[in-house]
Amino acid sequence: MLRQALVFTDMDGTLLDHHSYDYTPALNMLDVLKSKQIPVIPTTSKTKAELDVLMADLKLSGPLIVENGAAVYIPKYLFTSKPSGCLEKSGFWVKEFTNPRSHWLHLLAKLHDQFTGEFLQFSTMSNQQIIEHTGLDEKSAQLANTRLYSEPVKWLGTPERQTQFVTKLQQLGATVLQGGRFLGVSGFCDKGKALVWLVEAYQSELGNSATLSIALGDSNNDVAMLNASDIAVRVKSPSHPFPTLSRIAGIYDSTLYGPAGWSECLTKILVSEC
Ligand SMILES: [Mg+2]
Repeated sequence: MLRQALVFTDMDGTLLDHHSYDYTPALNMLDVLKSKQIPVIPTTSKTKAELDVLMADLKLSGPLIVENGAAVYIPKYLFTSKPSGCLEKSGFWVKEFTNPRSHWLHLLAKLHDQFTGEFLQFSTMSNQQIIEHTGLDEKSAQLANTRLYSEPVKWLGTPERQTQFVTKLQQLGATVLQGGRFLGVSGFCDKGKALVWLVEAYQSELGNSATLSIALGDSNNDVAMLNASDIAVRVKSPSHPFPTLSRIAGIYDSTLYGPAGWSECLTKILVSEC
């Protein structure tokens, strides 16, 4: 029986170039996947509002996983019935894995006095500061601040103090993920748990037909989904080495950077695994 392939992809540094956010080298492969009816599921630290814009550009209309696995959004028309544990929101089935952003802002406020001047956070940064620290344009920077479940923190202090800061947050019940440029402060959720949940939702929807999950990422915040998928693709980054995985089998490492490496590995996988 042919397995239904599901492509879970990180965005920054993976489908989008680390520096320019360009995705041109991936366009041909996106067309190939569409023609094969293989969903491309953004699995990212980005927000729902950011992805709405980006997915329209990329002509993607399937499910999406936002804010490092904090929530899964499935367009209602894709599934015949409500997947378990979902809420209905504006045409989507939504599965939430963590507390709202206000909860994490409250925890960060408790640490301000101990770590004064050592970190910035999106909620108190001006739009200009967000632009400077992300390289995003003005509109994109505004969208990046429309977070519902998590708070990005820019660490300014030493690595030793960062470890202390992260430990304090963990003691207060937060989970802290190191992204490409920011620490993501949220609850006990990650891209891997969201991937596993969505794969199971697809399996229920498809009458328990077999699925083949393919995850692509470049960074430490992708490790959970790269370990949880049937096939893992590590996309080469110009800024850091490949993330370390606990799995041994089923790993593809790209030789090219960002979207070119994304296409390079999916080309190989479609030939050998699908
Ligand atoms: Mg990335």
